[in-house]
Amino acid sequence: MGWFSKDIATMDDLFVHTLQDIYYAENQIKKALPEMATKATSPALKQGFETHLRETEGHIGRLREVFRLHGVEEQGINCPAIDGILEEANDVASEVQDKPVLDAALIAAAQAVEHYEITRYGTLVAWAKQLGREDCAALLKQNLDEEAATDEKLTQLAMDGINRKAA
Ligand code: FE
Ligand code: FE
Repeated sequence: MGWFSKDIATMDDLFVHTLQDIYYAENQIKKALPEMATKATSPALKQGFETHLRETEGHIGRLREVFRLHGVEEQGINCPAIDGILEEANDVASEVQDKPVLDAALIAAAQAVEHYEITRYGTLVAWAKQLGREDCAALLKQNLDEEAATDEKLTQLAMDGINRKAA
């Protein structure tokens, strides 16, 4: 918990805290994706990052709607987990010279990001339902589904790369 986060006493507090965590994370991801697209060599991977940037903007829009529906101010809180994942992605990408290896490193880093989002949205959907917020749960589920689909696409790109190399 950050220095400035108020104490978490109820499930509702915990829900809002986690919403603020993913809101911050999505905004950091939005900043990181253009650079990942620039670094990618494979046109399909480049395109994939660009598509997910637009989806990420949609995720942020849905989160704003969830804040509004739940009657709390839209606000991010520091999320050291996503900062660490993105920092590591940046470090690895800047160290790899070989292009196909760089693409493999970018895919692995992107999947770590997607898996973080999947775990957060999975939890948020469950908690929203528990709190009787079916409206919020439906929006969060849409984000969850897009993260899962992105993760699938990244796996497919990785497999295609491996197959090409093996051929
Ligand atoms: Fe997202
Ligand atoms: Fe994502």
